[in-house]
Amino acid sequence: MHHPGITMRTTSLAVSLAGAALLAGCAVSTQQEVQMGQQEAQQISTQLPMLQDPQVDAYVNDLGNEIAKRTSRADLDWHFAVVNTDVVNAFALPGGFVYVNRGVLAHASTMDELAGVLGHEIEHVVLRHSVKQMQQQQGANVGLAIACTLTNVCNSQAAATAINIGGTAVFAKFSREDEVQADNGGFQNVMRAGISPAGMLSFFKKLLAEEQSQGSSGTTAAWFSDHPGTQDRIADIQRMLANVPPAELAKLQTDSRAFQSMKARLAQLPPAPPSKQ
Ligand SMILES: [Zn+2]
Repeated sequence: MHHPGITMRTTSLAVSLAGAALLAGCAVSTQQEVQMGQQEAQQISTQLPMLQDPQVDAYVNDLGNEIAKRTSRADLDWHFAVVNTDVVNAFALPGGFVYVNRGVLAHASTMDELAGVLGHEIEHVVLRHSVKQMQQQQGANVGLAIACTLTNVCNSQAAATAINIGGTAVFAKFSREDEVQADNGGFQNVMRAGISPAGMLSFFKKLLAEEQSQGSSGTTAAWFSDHPGTQDRIADIQRMLANVPPAELAKLQTDSRAFQSMKARLAQLPPAPPSKQ
């Protein structure tokens, strides 16, 4: 069992050194942050099955950029990609690399539901949550570890590596405080883009209902193990929604023709490969 570890340790040396260098300094510059994200994105693109359908990718990028360009990090070159798995989850790397699993697109019935998930992940980037994680873990393949944990579709070598290097995959999860912050910021992010934040609530409620009826065998199981306190988050979002004047809420967009075209396209594509839950 030594060989895989040694091999991967060598290939990730550059990443680890970059991480060590970052730890030595106080602040991570935007350029360093983007570099961290690019390195991880490179690994993810080789280790995870990406959907890579031009129409679906274009739509998710359009929607994601609509939201991201109205945040305080509009300067970043944002990238949105779809992982080809039915597991419902999403994750973000430093520097503006956001990944959404196909399962999220399949479960979202209106544009605002997908927007809510993207707005949340965008906020993790805005608040530099994964930069913080990488600093704590000395930069070692944190992005890949997050990706493997949240999708369950990494090839076994990559998954083993992600877990080996960190010692445990637990660090791949954001803290509950980070999640609350990402919900609050994500809520504001979608509203600034003229999109109704009510989609965040309906999406969470839908996942919760599915989880309660299907239990741990369903595609939503990973969501609930990676996002503790979904009930509390639902209550938080309900509180935030109650503070939006009804007249203002009514003006915000909930769905779009482009979203429904993307859904129709998605339904025509071959099914996602099975996950290894
Ligand atoms: Zn999150």
